[in-house]
Amino acid sequence: MSESENVSIGDQLRDRVQLGMPGVVRRLSELVRIPSVSWDDFDRAEVQRSAEAVRELFAATELFDEVTIHQYEDADGRLGQPAVLAHRDPLPGYPTVLLYAHHDVQPPGDAEKWQTPIFEPTVIGDRLYGRGASDDKAGILVHVGALESLRDVLEARQEPFGIGVSILIEGEEENGSRSFSRFLEEHRRELEADYIIVADSDNASPETPSLTVALRGNVTFNLTVRTLRHASHSGMYGGLAPDAMLATIQLLNTLWDEQGATAVAGLESHEATVPDADEAQLLAEAGVIGGQLVGQGPLNSRMWYQPAITVTGIDAPNVANASNTLLPEVRVRISARVAPGQPAREFADALLAHLRAHAPFGAELEIDSLDIGEPFLVDAQGEGVARMLTALGEAWDTTPVEAGIGGSIPMISELMARFPAAQVLVTGVEDPGTKAHSPNESQHLGVLRRAIEAEARFLASHLK
Ligand SMILES: [Zn+2]
Repeated sequence: MSESENVSIGDQLRDRVQLGMPGVVRRLSELVRIPSVSWDDFDRAEVQRSAEAVRELFAATELFDEVTIHQYEDADGRLGQPAVLAHRDPLPGYPTVLLYAHHDVQPPGDAEKWQTPIFEPTVIGDRLYGRGASDDKAGILVHVGALESLRDVLEARQEPFGIGVSILIEGEEENGSRSFSRFLEEHRRELEADYIIVADSDNASPETPSLTVALRGNVTFNLTVRTLRHASHSGMYGGLAPDAMLATIQLLNTLWDEQGATAVAGLESHEATVPDADEAQLLAEAGVIGGQLVGQGPLNSRMWYQPAITVTGIDAPNVANASNTLLPEVRVRISARVAPGQPAREFADALLAHLRAHAPFGAELEIDSLDIGEPFLVDAQGEGVARMLTALGEAWDTTPVEAGIGGSIPMISELMARFPAAQVLVTGVEDPGTKAHSPNESQHLGVLRRAIEAEARFLASHLK
């Protein structure tokens, strides 16, 4: 028996990951220096450059015969941003794992609010600052770090790297994943997997890992409320003819109860226990002025597992241009969140039926630009969840939290729809201090190390 066989593979992975951290931070820093903002008005050449840098990282693992870059047009014929793809087949009897992250980043936002140079990686204490340092370039390094650690440990143990691996590093997640479905279509065969690990989410704290088990879906649309054929003088007809703003206010008011919880028949909630949340902290984080939150039930359940309806815009004359006129029509933007477990189409049908049934004064309603994104609810019975929870627990030396996220990641539901047999596992590199999408985004380096170790342990759990 060689010396290495006396040591558990988990301990070997922990040592190898620890040893690799300086190299991980160096490569993460190189990625952060590339301002790969995928939004329309930013330089596409930088996203291309970042795709090439990512290709090099995976090529250097020597686990793939080739690592390729692909770009496709979206449904409107616009050219999407470059994604990086690689694949190795499993040995007989081993599963295949698809590792997802994205290499594009959000725009810098308010440049004056950054305390370090936006695209110059800067380590302060435990954290590496810079746009994309966490979301989601750290996710890329989780995959690279886990693969190379497992590769080296297996080599030392003289065991084969039997697991099949597919790599998908998207280039436009921050810009709506517009050509993603085309990409999945074109590369269906290489991307077919037993597990899909999406390393693009959050952790409860730098000390406590989360597995994201639910995401709300979304339903957005424009609603036009029409009550008059033409405008007329509010002094003359006010109090007699129903103006569109009156009808709109009355109609919108039926969407919530007095606590601000949704009051629409047919919108479902997901029943699951949630970890406690600190009300004072949430009030502060959300910048609530009046000291009161809306909704009912446990705080995390309101954010993760209950539906929500928000009015995010109203088209009406602005105050400066307001004349004494009864408005004939008003247009409203509605943005709603679908609880995990309810099909988004069913939610949309219930909400639209409610609006039609409650339109006052015989108002005409018109709906346009309806957009729906499915929620995500992990299959809690799937053995992938149990394996990942074990791996997270071992790597972090504590019990992981099963968490939901209030926001939507439509890309995840597309993956699920395209690969219904795969178990999707949403892990994370972020923590509450990360400030993804905001100025002063940073990656906690201890979180990064533990995230790499957890993924390596998950992969190793499939070894014979
Ligand atoms: Zn992200």
